[in-house]
Amino acid sequence: MLGKQTKYIFVTGGVISGLGKGITAASIANLLKARGISVNLQKCDPYLNVDAGMLNPREHGECFVTKDGAETDLDLGHYERFIDQELTQKSSLMAGRVLLNVIQDERAGKYDGDDVQIIPHLTAAIQKYIIEASKGFDVHIVEIGGTVGDYESLSFIEAIRELGLKVGVDNCLYVHVVYLPYINTSHEIKTKPAQNSARELRGLGIQPSILVARSEEPANPKIVKKISLFTGVKESSIALLPNADSIYEVPLTLEDSGIGDEIVNLLNLKAKKPDLKNWRKMVDLATKDFKKDIRIGLVAKYLDNTDTYVSVFEALKSAALWNDVKIDIDWIDSTELEKTKNLNKLKEYDGILVPGGFGKRGLEGKINAAKFALQNDVPYLGICLGMQMAVIAAARLANFSLATSFEIDPKSKFQVITTMNDQRGKENTGGTMRLGNYNCNLNKASLTYELYKQDKIIERHRHRGECNPKYTEEFDKWGIKISGINPDNKLVEIIEAKDHPFFVGCQFHPEFKSRPTKPHPLFEGFISAILKVKK
Ligand code: GLN
Repeated sequence: MLGKQTKYIFVTGGVISGLGKGITAASIANLLKARGISVNLQKCDPYLNVDAGMLNPREHGECFVTKDGAETDLDLGHYERFIDQELTQKSSLMAGRVLLNVIQDERAGKYDGDDVQIIPHLTAAIQKYIIEASKGFDVHIVEIGGTVGDYESLSFIEAIRELGLKVGVDNCLYVHVVYLPYINTSHEIKTKPAQNSARELRGLGIQPSILVARSEEPANPKIVKKISLFTGVKESSIALLPNADSIYEVPLTLEDSGIGDEIVNLLNLKAKKPDLKNWRKMVDLATKDFKKDIRIGLVAKYLDNTDTYVSVFEALKSAALWNDVKIDIDWIDSTELEKTKNLNKLKEYDGILVPGGFGKRGLEGKINAAKFALQNDVPYLGICLGMQMAVIAAARLANFSLATSFEIDPKSKFQVITTMNDQRGKENTGGTMRLGNYNCNLNKASLTYELYKQDKIIERHRHRGECNPKYTEEFDKWGIKISGINPDNKLVEIIEAKDHPFFVGCQFHPEFKSRPTKPHPLFEGFISAILKVKK
């Protein structure tokens, strides 16, 4: 069934949600990769959605896009950043996708007259997806979303229990992430909720092999003995994980706790000595005191959840730290920039970034922000929607005052940003945007080419609108240059302003390919330009 026996690590969470199960899973993957072991990661989410494409980013956070165009949970972004590896649709499984699959099979007569049941049919379908994602890797790490005991995730828990039975105890581990609350009045850290959560997992047929115990403050190492006694997990298999200044410290804390070697031993893996040199260097940089700092204004409409743009934030931070500067990122409400008199507040910023977005609200404010950057030589990076608004800003400044987009005015004849035929009528449907990797050829006479240092690039997309081919000849008059074109469909992928320190817009999402140890060229260029202007 499995070909080469992949080893499995299943990561569950207990006590409360938001403990950083995803970061733990990604950190374990990081430690194994650092030992020369090939890994894949997969997130199983109990939502009945088929993918994350239709989820509201305000509540659910960013929709991360993989190279093959899967619209996924933001945890996949952490995974990619922690293991510097491009993942695929196989790494993201939402309950809706499995259910849809089971029901379609039932309609197609594939169950041969059987009753179709959660156990064994749904659990078998889940296992099939997990096994499929594991193929070709030494270790496959599967994170189960939600908290153990939730009604919603029961079928996933049962599926990983059964899978463990099939592959054998030597070939899988169950990592359970728990929480140790601190009681202020008695100054003690409590282990009872963690004990109960391990018992809850046992009640579902799974004895945890490893416990990762999260706490706000460092816990006294003696607590490990007590947790071990009450949960049946060996002391050497328990890691204490207090809050960190940077999420990138987590692999190092786990490594210091000995969990990396413990996993290698428990799974009997062939491993090299871990090479964490570059990672350590990055963490040292990320947590040091910088002499210089810069302020970025991020113009957006969702202002209450930083997760909405987590990959953009991480890409900015990575470029800043490798440039040896501290970065402060302020949110600016795009709806407030609709009144031109409010634009003065943009003067406080060293750079302006307009990220991706959907819908009409706040778009005029984003156009105003782009106009301000153009007129005042302020470095500007426009991502997807931010590029579209930048093109409109340039057109309007060049006296094409009716220039607009399909989202602002769906009826206008002057859509410099418009939808191509294949997108029309699909506005509210899932999985139909231009998604995932597309090729782009760079114009050698451009700043963008200087940044990438290569003329053929591949970047990830998620949008419906495009620069309207009807207007691209006008760009020169509007003071902008096309610096990247899709060689296959000839659509514009990157633009830059001609006489400006840095005014770049890209139709794709560069943030998805940025890494903490390897900043993306466009973010790197943006931060370097800011530093040059500031000098
Ligand atoms: N709403 C715009 C479009 O669909 C931009 C999308 C984005 O920024 N990801 O084209």
